[in-house]
Amino acid sequence: MPTIDLDFDRQHVWHPYTSVTNPLPVYPVARAYDVFLELEDGRRLIDGMSSWWAAIHGYNHPVLNSAVVSQLERMSHVMFGGLTHEPAVTLAQQLLALTPAPLQKVFFSDSGSVAVEVAIKMAIQYWAALGKPSKNRLLTVHSGYHGDTFAAMSVCDPVTGMHSLFKGTIQEQYFAEAPACRFHEPCTDEDMADLHLKLERHHTDIAAVILEPVVQGAGGMRFYSPDYLRRLRELCDSYDVLLILDEIATGFGRTGKMFALEHASVVPDILCVGKALTGGYMTLAATLTTGSVAETICSGIPGLFMHGPTFMANPLACAVASASIRLLESYDWQASVLRLEAGLRRGLEPCRSFSHVMDVRVLGAIGVVELQNPVVMATIQKQFVDKGVWVRPFGRLVYLMPSFIMTDNELSLLTAAVCDVVQSIQ
Ligand SMILES: *Cc1c(COP(=O)(O)O)cnc(C)c1O
Repeated sequence: MPTIDLDFDRQHVWHPYTSVTNPLPVYPVARAYDVFLELEDGRRLIDGMSSWWAAIHGYNHPVLNSAVVSQLERMSHVMFGGLTHEPAVTLAQQLLALTPAPLQKVFFSDSGSVAVEVAIKMAIQYWAALGKPSKNRLLTVHSGYHGDTFAAMSVCDPVTGMHSLFKGTIQEQYFAEAPACRFHEPCTDEDMADLHLKLERHHTDIAAVILEPVVQGAGGMRFYSPDYLRRLRELCDSYDVLLILDEIATGFGRTGKMFALEHASVVPDILCVGKALTGGYMTLAATLTTGSVAETICSGIPGLFMHGPTFMANPLACAVASASIRLLESYDWQASVLRLEAGLRRGLEPCRSFSHVMDVRVLGAIGVVELQNPVVMATIQKQFVDKGVWVRPFGRLVYLMPSFIMTDNELSLLTAAVCDVVQSIQ
């Protein structure tokens, strides 16, 4: 196998959210299988990240591999304009079967951020078609994350999303306080007050409310009450505003339900999925909407929806997504997520006693240790690798989202490493 030229990487290859003039070390991965990342020097790390929520079945899964290979032998890609294919149709059928019945139309795109752009465009075209073009802004909550493209950025948390840097370039949207009612608690009118106020004041120029159901991911790893979503749905209805739920991180079992919206039995007008959609094999996302939103969009000028990526509904990605969903449905994944939830609770609990730990929280296969101060990435990354685990914190958050196939033993090695490292940085 050719070795990786780390020097070239350092000089010429940009990594996510990094400086090219002062790059942090990157670790060369030679291969990945099950829950393991194998580094070029032979070290084997237990992966605690599932490659950012995505690899729910672990790496190099024989069923997913064979789905890619057999699709590859038929066709890897054809344009989606004027053509269709079995992988796209099958996947759309599966997605509609898994999501609330009113969602009836599926728009495929290539990444989560684009799925969010598509959702926002749908909402704006919807109101334009109804003769209300002034309803073209979004309302969201603080601490959210919806992607890195411009419209998606405009609804990310203004502070962590660096809105000041792009002032004048990104659309200014409305922000309400982040949901404060915790997962197991009901919400009061008080908890909804700020959101309610923003809707009351601005509903005539709001197209939609967008937020991540139950779990706010990259904007702060916060969990909140499903009751908030139920009340939000009622508010959206009474102020004539669409509801977009972004399940790109939470979808496909991560929170203990197939989709996090099931915790609240809420039906959105538009739903975004991505990340674990392909089991982490390839980039693919989808935006689903109701028959009524879709028909309204197409009744307005220009009579169609204005979007169409080159690699829309890529057959390889659709085929592996389809296989990933079948794989999930083939076993008791909910029992696995519950088992991981118990293991994360047990394993991360000791961190709570450290004075520099503010909170330890677990929901489904997500475990979070919130620290008082931001970590020093280069140092902590090396400590984790030296302990044989792959954990990549951000800011004050050390978090785990193991693949659903992780054994209890692997999970306790992972959580023990987190507790050791967190303790050592006191
Ligand atoms: C990751 C993420 C996105 C963006 O997806 P990309 O595939 O990185 O573009 C959007 N919304 C949420 C909730 C996410 O977690």
